[in-house]
Amino acid sequence: MSEAVAQAVAERFTRLYGAGPEGVWAAPGRVNLIGEHTDYNDGFVMPFALPHTAVAAVSRRTDGLLRLHSANIGDDAAGAGGVTELRVADLAPETDRGWTAYPAGVVWALREAGHEITGADIHLASTVPAGAGLSSSAALEVVVALALNDLYGLGLRGWQLARLCQRAENVYVGAPVGIMDQTAAACCEAGHALFLDTRDLSQRQIPFDLAAEGMRLLVVDTQVKHAHSEGEYGKRRAGCEKGAALLGVDALRDVPYDGLEAALERLGDDEEVRRLVRHVVTEDERVERVVSLLESGRTREIGPVLTEGHVSLRDDFRISCPELDLVVDTALAEGALGARMTGGGFGGSAIVLARAADVETLTKAVQEAFARAGFTAPRVFEAVPSAGARRLV
Ligand code: ADP
Ligand code: MG
Repeated sequence: MSEAVAQAVAERFTRLYGAGPEGVWAAPGRVNLIGEHTDYNDGFVMPFALPHTAVAAVSRRTDGLLRLHSANIGDDAAGAGGVTELRVADLAPETDRGWTAYPAGVVWALREAGHEITGADIHLASTVPAGAGLSSSAALEVVVALALNDLYGLGLRGWQLARLCQRAENVYVGAPVGIMDQTAAACCEAGHALFLDTRDLSQRQIPFDLAAEGMRLLVVDTQVKHAHSEGEYGKRRAGCEKGAALLGVDALRDVPYDGLEAALERLGDDEEVRRLVRHVVTEDERVERVVSLLESGRTREIGPVLTEGHVSLRDDFRISCPELDLVVDTALAEGALGARMTGGGFGGSAIVLARAADVETLTKAVQEAFARAGFTAPRVFEAVPSAGARRLV
């Protein structure tokens, strides 16, 4: 399967640039199992990689040119299709508002870190749906970073590539994202979820083989993105920082779960901040609970913890939306073991943990509920915990 994909991407590269690529790499999208909006609070997250990947065919250049092409961008859109040609020496933060900022930002970040990248020809093709909360942007960044790491012999480890990609997205693209997505794309392993401490970047692979236990995890992409989501993300982030400042800690990660009640009392009547703090502190505890359940083989029991996470995101963090709530409510009513929204919120995707035998009825029930509500039909697919970034050819 991946061989055929790699070959098709290499062939397109050859048609674009006139010679075959030096290699082909892949990096996956991700789903966050639990640990939402904890990454910018120095807390815990637990993503796993999707089978969907961004694939890059890449060759080095020595003349300072960076040439970029994506199969996912229409060739006819004004200025957006075709090959974009940039000079690596001219790359500068926030000068590019288009998709090329992601791969160009990675080249910029590598050069900023002192690595001599003298140019590249890059062709990308991705099966990670963009803007669905499945992190198509990190897949794009990490696949480019890994390719250049290999070709230029930089010897950087996965977590280091993730850091550089985060810097590319924060500074070059101008999006204030945490470290989770890039680390997931770079470091996940098949059959595992990645337990990541976003403070010190320590990580542990947690066995997560649902099929062996007769379970499935469905991703329901609602295909909606509510317009105000970016501003709301900023507000939540600022609110969390305010909470940490009021409590005199570096980050909300430092509020212990058994000290939550006392912390909430200290916040007095600032109801908004109290709710944000309660979500982050309880969410970190939920991640730890899921880790210990999975490590002791009690996989089925993570269901209710996922659902608790949804209630917290809906009622305390207030970033759900009618479409996401409808997925969760419908799935639970149909016997799902657990369900929650995943990703930044206000649209994007929800995940549903279900017995294998229930998948068909559950899927149908969600689709019918969306039709009844007059919502756009959701895309439903099964998420099998897959491999992180790797070289294909
Ligand atoms: P998410 O990462 O959740 O999918 P983002 O808004 O962070 O959403 O990133 C989506 C953006 O990443 C797209 O608007 C596009 O600019 C870029 N992108 C993702 N995949 C591709 C691709 N295959 N080709 C070109 N650009 C892509
Ligand atoms: Mg993204």
